[in-house]
Amino acid sequence: MSIDLKIAVIGQSNFAADVLELLLERSNIKVVGVFTIPDKGSREDVLATTAANHKIPVFKFSGWRRKGVAIPEVIEQYKSVGATLNVLPYCSQFIPMEVIDGAPLGSICYHPSILPRHRGASAISWTLIEGDEIAGFSIFWADDGLDTGPLLLTRQTNLEPTDTLDTIYKRFLYPEGVKAMGVAVDLVANGTAPKITQTTVGATYDAAMFKAENQLLNLQQSAERIWNFVRGLDSVPGAIATVLLPDGSEEQVRFFGAHLYSAGPVKDGQPLKLKGLAKPAWVHEGGLLIEGTDGAFVNIKRIKRGSKMINASDWFKQAEQKPITDFTEDELAKKAQLASIWQAILKESIEASTDFFAAGAGSMDVVRLVEEVKDAFDVPFENEHVFMAPVFEEFFGLLVKALRQGSGDSGAQKLDYDGFVLQANKRKINVPTQLFINGAFVDAEQKRTLDIVNPTDEEILCQVACASAADVDKAVQAAHKAFYGSWKQVSARQRGQLMLKLADLMEHHKEDLATIESVDSGAVYTLALKTHIGMSIDAWRYFAGWCDKIQGNTIPVNPARPNNVLTFTRKEPIGVCGLVTPWNYPLMMLSWKMAACIAAGNTCLIKPAQTCPLTALKFAELTVQAGFPPGVINVLPGKGSDAGQAVADHKLVRKLGFTGSTPIGKHIMKSCAEANIKKVSLELGGKSPLIIFADCDLDKAVKHGMSSVFFNKGENCIAAGRLFVEDRIHDEFVRRVLKDLRTMTIGDPLNRSTAHGPQNHKAHFDKLLEFCQRGVKDGATLVYGGCRVPNMKGYFFTPTVFTNVEDDMYIAQEESFGPIMIISKFNGSDVDSVMERANRTEYGLASGVFTKDISKALSFADRIEAGTVFVNVYNKTDVAAPFGGFKQSGYGKDLGQEALNEYLKTKCVTIEY
Ligand code: NAP
Repeated sequence: MSIDLKIAVIGQSNFAADVLELLLERSNIKVVGVFTIPDKGSREDVLATTAANHKIPVFKFSGWRRKGVAIPEVIEQYKSVGATLNVLPYCSQFIPMEVIDGAPLGSICYHPSILPRHRGASAISWTLIEGDEIAGFSIFWADDGLDTGPLLLTRQTNLEPTDTLDTIYKRFLYPEGVKAMGVAVDLVANGTAPKITQTTVGATYDAAMFKAENQLLNLQQSAERIWNFVRGLDSVPGAIATVLLPDGSEEQVRFFGAHLYSAGPVKDGQPLKLKGLAKPAWVHEGGLLIEGTDGAFVNIKRIKRGSKMINASDWFKQAEQKPITDFTEDELAKKAQLASIWQAILKESIEASTDFFAAGAGSMDVVRLVEEVKDAFDVPFENEHVFMAPVFEEFFGLLVKALRQGSGDSGAQKLDYDGFVLQANKRKINVPTQLFINGAFVDAEQKRTLDIVNPTDEEILCQVACASAADVDKAVQAAHKAFYGSWKQVSARQRGQLMLKLADLMEHHKEDLATIESVDSGAVYTLALKTHIGMSIDAWRYFAGWCDKIQGNTIPVNPARPNNVLTFTRKEPIGVCGLVTPWNYPLMMLSWKMAACIAAGNTCLIKPAQTCPLTALKFAELTVQAGFPPGVINVLPGKGSDAGQAVADHKLVRKLGFTGSTPIGKHIMKSCAEANIKKVSLELGGKSPLIIFADCDLDKAVKHGMSSVFFNKGENCIAAGRLFVEDRIHDEFVRRVLKDLRTMTIGDPLNRSTAHGPQNHKAHFDKLLEFCQRGVKDGATLVYGGCRVPNMKGYFFTPTVFTNVEDDMYIAQEESFGPIMIISKFNGSDVDSVMERANRTEYGLASGVFTKDISKALSFADRIEAGTVFVNVYNKTDVAAPFGGFKQSGYGKDLGQEALNEYLKTKCVTIEY
């Protein structure tokens, strides 16, 4: 039978407040008084606030005794509440025996170790320092303050190698401790609370770790003991070590984040001398490595210098890190908002120099601050950030960095680069001409360069850095580091935000980008705006939406009776991806691949086509403004045989996304297999058939037939490489095509009325001339073009039409990649034969059919061997629709959800329970 209790709660902190709340849920309990510590400045202990909220009398004493004797007024006030039981959830004060024994049922007290081990004020720390395998807590009947009273209950848990003072407290001692206090009170009310005398066997009384002299780390011990000491003081107050600086002075620091390091000595570290350690410690990429007296190693992740927490790996880099000073008005407004959050927690006015911990904040305040900051500013913040920047001004700096990264709003950041000013299209555009590696524009090794030629006037436009294998290696290393470092810190949703920000910047600069594209690749400006740049922006926006929707499946597998099994898949990024792209849609090819690659969470380097890399470099500049961390995106103009090959050969590149010709695709596939069996997707050449039946809408068929060939000067991978026109309409179709061709405006691609610009570069132009000569030689009828546009400088090729093309002719088989229409006739009574002819190619990229007969159209879609089928339309691609070929046109898709999978790997996890 349970009796009613009148309880005095004596203690402080969130723990005591939670115990109070728990006790108040019980109907047989009345809390008659709460006794706690005095306010610190204007900051009241949370126990006092909680009690006041419940209208419980609160008493705040700075001490209960004076010169070892209980203070009469204090005892008087305590007695006035008439408690039958004292509950001490967490009490830092010395409570006199008059109070301990002052309640008829006595006093029960929480202690964070399994008594009799680790009596004293720092029991949790000592549990770790001593390398105990079990941690736990005791609730005991309080005695004279030396934790020797009889035990009421104990609870325990295994200590994990990853545990620190913080984790063991948060995961076990706090939540289970609060619950157990409730259980203990119930036992008292029921009259069943045991009083088990503590043994002296195994009893210890340990030193208080709040004294600085006890926080000194002894380095003359085994790695394991060093590790245990550091984690026993992590995160408060931290183990003290002394660094011997090169100028002979000493600096006292605190260590955090220790773990045993089994990989042995580091190769690329820098030595750091520590007092009390004969051999130097080593600062390396993963932290600070210390050798224990047993020859084993312990690694330290974070070091506190003064009030600032730094990554140990940054010890020597610190001087290079510049604080932010160029705050925007919006950011300053956020500073005021942040100050009010701090003020609400610390209950004191906030100065630039206010130190969160010095102002009395504890671990629960850290959690609250982080949660409130995440809520208010929608940034990914961790408890660690508070420890890294406990001073208000520094914390605000971190917040601004996170905000700029998240929203991509680091617009103020200006990049230094060598470049040239492109004056065209009534604009002056700064264009970088260096390699973009690890967030900076740099020269290529040995300052190698490529000449970039303007195809409209055949003049050299500029020189661009030309990457070598060594430059590729630098970019891969940067991408690798980012993949395992900064990029991992960016959440999927934040990644999407960065991509959207980048898309906005591309939109904002779309006229600049289209102008560069037009001058560099010969693309007609209006088309460049709509397709080359417009579809690039769409791709970034489309894939941004996927970032936080990448998910696996749960899979019903056979249970392992009598147990059950849960199997699920995770979709994970692959790592560093190489992208190699052609010259026909420079920015669009980049965007199709890179947007999917980045959305999936990879880092990348791209080698754009050597003839027109300028939009890729301008794009690189925008990625910095968008706030992408260094190393996530790298852009390396260079030659395919050199830089491109190095990407395929690199062992740290785990995936290669390639668009280009079939012969190079084959070669690359071999290289990727030999290098490291990297995953490859290949978007290769095509010779796409377009069948035009006599029952079509002829106006439409002519219009789309023209664009199927002449769109983007024929430099279009899905261009219709061969038109099969039904004999009944063949002559009329050809007549109309020629009529339109004769009025096609050919000229400066920047001119808004131009429909047909120059071919991309000279070698390609020459190949087109040869292609036409071969067609004539093989007996096809050249009815239009086949030559340079007369009297014009630049690589202007006259749009061309061949008729009477037989199936075995070279021009019927091979891709021209230029503005050359190849027309063959077929008889409408023999659909089977035209389907067979359409499929008689090793390519299988795209295809098209024009007919009003839905059955014919669907039958065509069934039977054609091509990755893309257009019915009564052509070139209708969309960023949401998967794009890619069959047969020797390659495999793996660009665009759509399928493209995302090209840049993900599937991990299958099986759990028995
Ligand atoms: P390409 O000669 O195959 O070149 C494509 C890219 O590969 C270029 O960046 C090239 O560098 C690089 N490269 C050359 N050799 C390499 C090597 N050994 N290792 C790694 N990279 C190497 O093709 P292209 O002439 O630029 O483009 C035209 C072809 O692309 C056509 O066949 C067209 O059909 C195809 N294409 C296909 C699609 C599609 O989605 N299926 C889309 C567009 C284009 P350089 O710049 O130094 O040559």
